[in-house]
Amino acid sequence: MKKIILLLLFPAIGISQESNLNWILAHMKDNSIESYTILNLYDNLPQNLSYTASDNVLIRTTKGSETYSYLDLLSKKSTLKSMATNVHEICHGLTGMYFFNEMDSNYIAHDSNNITSYFFISEDIIYVSIFRGDVFPSSVLKNLIPESLITSRYETYILGDSSTQEEGIIGLLDELNAYYHGTKFSFDMLPIYKTVYPDNYLNEWVMGLQSTMTAYYEFDFWIKEYLLHAKINYPELFSEIIKKGSALDIFISIREKYKTLISKYSESVKVESGKIKYYYDTEFWDSDYYKLIDRLNTDKYNSINNLLSL
Ligand SMILES: [Zn+2]
Repeated sequence: MKKIILLLLFPAIGISQESNLNWILAHMKDNSIESYTILNLYDNLPQNLSYTASDNVLIRTTKGSETYSYLDLLSKKSTLKSMATNVHEICHGLTGMYFFNEMDSNYIAHDSNNITSYFFISEDIIYVSIFRGDVFPSSVLKNLIPESLITSRYETYILGDSSTQEEGIIGLLDELNAYYHGTKFSFDMLPIYKTVYPDNYLNEWVMGLQSTMTAYYEFDFWIKEYLLHAKINYPELFSEIIKKGSALDIFISIREKYKTLISKYSESVKVESGKIKYYYDTEFWDSDYYKLIDRLNTDKYNSINNLLSL
């Protein structure tokens, strides 16, 4: 009877894939409660949600993806690796949809053209966010970024057709948060990497983390450029950004979490590389880190760093 119920829940996957899914979820529950919560909150949302905004416009949303649709469940290794992407993508889904759920129980007056989101940063840091400013698209930054500072995600988020265009600063923050949670999941899974790759876990773990740990510096750079450009050229937008509980506070919260994660990662790699008996040779950072770090340390961002209390 139990098998029949599970097959109904996961009609597209076989028994071994289903057991890989149950295996990773059990480990997430024990080791990575935030990524587990993100998947659960999203999974419990209905397929369709709607509410009427203050300007009488009915706004609807529909679940774009199934909760586990970004997983490769063929093996434990592929399940472990693909879950980082799955958490990233479902985090976007939660940010976009859970706001509708909140409006059901605690409606906050706003117009249909405001940018609405639900930023789940941790169990105790959540922003139900309504952004009322007129954002500019992230593509504006292409005129401000010198060629030498073009990094691997530039094409997707600065030139490409992602939510960073239509939602500007909020789209960039949504990406930063999704990268944070996908990365946090892989970080939390160190004990599972040890069981899945007993003879090479540190290389595999660092390989799995290096690129998305580096993503922090790309988004930190772009968001600081965005804030600086808004400060100089769009004072009204900038005053929306720095309002209490608005984009700047969201940035500060995600940034703090991501920075803490990076320092724990760096500490763990030091400790683990002293313990292992096999050869460890994986680059700690992606090459984009070396492109950006000097620029981020220049005086150019002093006024923004002051706002971030850095
Ligand atoms: Zn994304």
